[in-house]
Amino acid sequence: MTYNEKSQRFTLDPWSSDLKVEDYERLCQEFGIKPLKPLLPMIENPPHFLRRGIIFGHRDLELILEAAKKNEPFAVMSGIKPTGDFHLGTLLTMREIIYFQKAGGLAVYCIADIEAYEDNNIPFDESRQIAIGNIADALALGLDPKRAYIYRQSKERRVKDLAYLFGRGITLSTITAIYGERHLGLYMSALIQVADILLPQLKDLGGPKPTVVPVGIDQDPHIRFARDVAHRFHEKLGFIPPSSTYHRIMRGLDGSPKMSKRNPMSYFTLNEDLESIKWKLMNAYTGGRATAKEQRELGGIPEQCCIYELCVFYFVEDDKELLDMYMKCRRGEVLCGDCKIKVVEKVIKFIEEHQRRRNRFIDTARSLIEEEDQKPSYL
Ligand code: SF4
Repeated sequence: MTYNEKSQRFTLDPWSSDLKVEDYERLCQEFGIKPLKPLLPMIENPPHFLRRGIIFGHRDLELILEAAKKNEPFAVMSGIKPTGDFHLGTLLTMREIIYFQKAGGLAVYCIADIEAYEDNNIPFDESRQIAIGNIADALALGLDPKRAYIYRQSKERRVKDLAYLFGRGITLSTITAIYGERHLGLYMSALIQVADILLPQLKDLGGPKPTVVPVGIDQDPHIRFARDVAHRFHEKLGFIPPSSTYHRIMRGLDGSPKMSKRNPMSYFTLNEDLESIKWKLMNAYTGGRATAKEQRELGGIPEQCCIYELCVFYFVEDDKELLDMYMKCRRGEVLCGDCKIKVVEKVIKFIEEHQRRRNRFIDTARSLIEEEDQKPSYL
């Protein structure tokens, strides 16, 4: 995200990995995103990522909540760029998808191999292999393939047809106003993403329906573009502007502003070697004091601690347990070394179980991709 001094406005770049957000409230105001908190009373037993404000904002989420309540059709749509193994960011998005799928939504999950090619230069045969692992991860986390449509962008003719159709209704100045000046391949991949987002509303996937897209805030330009296109093509195809949710960005484990592939100590993947994960966690940045004596006297600072943040986002679902961890840290009743050991145990238990489940789903994932292989592609 960059701040334009001249216009005094923030701009978001969905293709940049340098996002750093300090003021979520201002961001919401700037981009017309509504805070999620006022909707919480409408949600029965909200999961931890909703009640703790990890999902901080939304556009038109009311439409989804109403559809779920009335048992009416809705969809949850998201995807992954097949550039590597699932990491913590993808884990959060997948938990959201599964949550909305369990609430009654059709899950539409896109393997964004065209974007991986345009943005990361990953050849299609390589992204195909990565996608098998990604799908196995999604299934291992609980995505129900019977109520999901999983596809590869390069193989989905309807997505390409829609992108072509949308291209006719969009001028260069509209697309430049949203994304700035980029090469045409990225504009094409933006049109493809908009087509992905609106795909669940096509007749053969059940027709127009509210669709929620869980994203990080940096992906908001695609949401705004998709909503604009949905308005423009409402008369022709009946599209309802898609809804969205926005999650906070977790800091890197090393204390850097964001987990990044360029910095392996800042994150781990769900398929990583257990010893490597342990090592990263035991060396993670904390809110501990310089000496044990100081920590016992003054207490730690959980607000600054990546280990605590990891628990808030992913690994402690029970609010009482989290509060207990917070208070013990604040009161100096626990030292960082001991605290980390407990968190490492939790994380490793989760990862071990996940990797076991993932292995069991590899064949199913491969079959899904092989079915996709039968579709023609010219890329
Ligand atoms: S005691 Fe735990 S929560 Fe507190 S700063 Fe240390 S590692 Fe973080």
